[in-house]
Amino acid sequence: MAKRISKSQFMMGLQCPKRLWLYNYRKELIPPVAPGTQRLFDEGKAVDELSRGYFKDGKLVAFDFRQLQHALKHTAWLIENGAKLIYEGAFCSGDVLIRCDILKKNPDNSWDLIEVKSSTSVKEEHLPDAALQRYVLEAAGLKIKKTWLMHINKEFIKRGPIDPKKFFKRENITEQTTALLPAIKENLEKFLELLAGETPEIGIGRHCSEPHTCDFRGHCWKNVPDYSIYDVPRLPWEKKNLLKAMGIVRFADVPDTFDLSTAQKLYLQVEKTGRPAVDKPALKAFLGTLQYPLWHIDFETLMPGIPLFDASRPYQQIPFQVSIHVQDAPGAEPRHLDYLASPAGDPRPGLIAFLARNIGTEGSLLAYNSAFEAARLREMAADFPDSAPPLNNFADRLVDLMAPFKEQAYVLPEFRGHYSIKVLLPAMIPDMTYAGLPIGNGADAQLAFAAMVAGKLNPDQAAKARRDLLVYCGQDTLAMVKILAKLYAAAG
Ligand code: SF4
Repeated sequence: MAKRISKSQFMMGLQCPKRLWLYNYRKELIPPVAPGTQRLFDEGKAVDELSRGYFKDGKLVAFDFRQLQHALKHTAWLIENGAKLIYEGAFCSGDVLIRCDILKKNPDNSWDLIEVKSSTSVKEEHLPDAALQRYVLEAAGLKIKKTWLMHINKEFIKRGPIDPKKFFKRENITEQTTALLPAIKENLEKFLELLAGETPEIGIGRHCSEPHTCDFRGHCWKNVPDYSIYDVPRLPWEKKNLLKAMGIVRFADVPDTFDLSTAQKLYLQVEKTGRPAVDKPALKAFLGTLQYPLWHIDFETLMPGIPLFDASRPYQQIPFQVSIHVQDAPGAEPRHLDYLASPAGDPRPGLIAFLARNIGTEGSLLAYNSAFEAARLREMAADFPDSAPPLNNFADRLVDLMAPFKEQAYVLPEFRGHYSIKVLLPAMIPDMTYAGLPIGNGADAQLAFAAMVAGKLNPDQAAKARRDLLVYCGQDTLAMVKILAKLYAAAG
């Protein structure tokens, strides 16, 4: 029997026809939705709901995908009965089902289609998405005058209640969708034919992660060895594909003569010999830049698409927690300071006051990937001008502990070409691990604090989340202390 495909399935097919096929016939291979992904879904839903304030007083087709027939009938009824603004309208033409975020009727009885995205710009993949909707609407008999992409305005700054007219930006994508209509028809036919056949033969490649990470990576990538050509930092896909065509997948099997960058050649040498690469002069030069007392610092942040606090923008990283380990001299026992904001209200004023009270006027601030901490300090300085002098001073004093690893002054075979602190730590300090921590990475920390802010945790859960957050962030800066000690030892 012929299959029906939805808009999201059509987009899967564009990314990789095998993904579309597996989605239809091997759903059991899809891993459970990760909490971080669920949060993105929830945020997308909240953005859709907010967008309805841009065009007010429309009729909502509330039936979800499990009640599709009701949704189709309700939409048809609304159109027959003269609705002028419809949210979540459902349409079916031939073998394709779509839901439209907003449909707005014009005085000449034509309609404008408005697709809402929680991004801050129009992206390439949004165009076929909107073009497919237009194709189905026109096939269903609606005259579509204009097609719009409505996305979040990244310049928006929250000051009081959010006005959707200022929060969103609309871009007219009618021309782009017109150009795509013939390809929509062709692709639909191709996908429907594909679904009537066997699993398509498609190898792994760039399409497995662009434009979205595919749910079937666990299946299609299961035979890729642990340290493969796909793990080599900044190796272009053309070269990966060339190596694959040569039958080479393990990084260790790449010939010494293969065209690699200087950095990649060093990774290859470390992998093949199993010996570390340590550049003592470079390490000494780096360590010579540190001024004591040394403030090992790490922020945890929240990044809401719809700003929660005044004086913040969409997707701005809002620091809610900081951990600091202070050392008065190289190798000295560190003191620990930390701050975790209350989930009620803007976390930044309390955190800024903590920083100003506790960080002295002397010494370097050491962060792992210090560009992140610098950006947060400068943003807070801009958003809270009264606190700008100390915050800018802290940013000026930052030194990046990631630099010697990024610049390959210290490379262990276990790093496998990576230099995130989560990769470094088990290789350099085996007795310190994030495994088993209830909160073991920044994304988990963000989720935990977001749940506290949203009031989703009972008092016991909230108290536990606070304890887990403090342990996690403290571990990050203690790890930096220990990693730095290893660098001093390696520098000799
Ligand atoms: S993992 Fe890659 S090859 Fe497999 S279905 Fe997904 S995109 Fe296609």
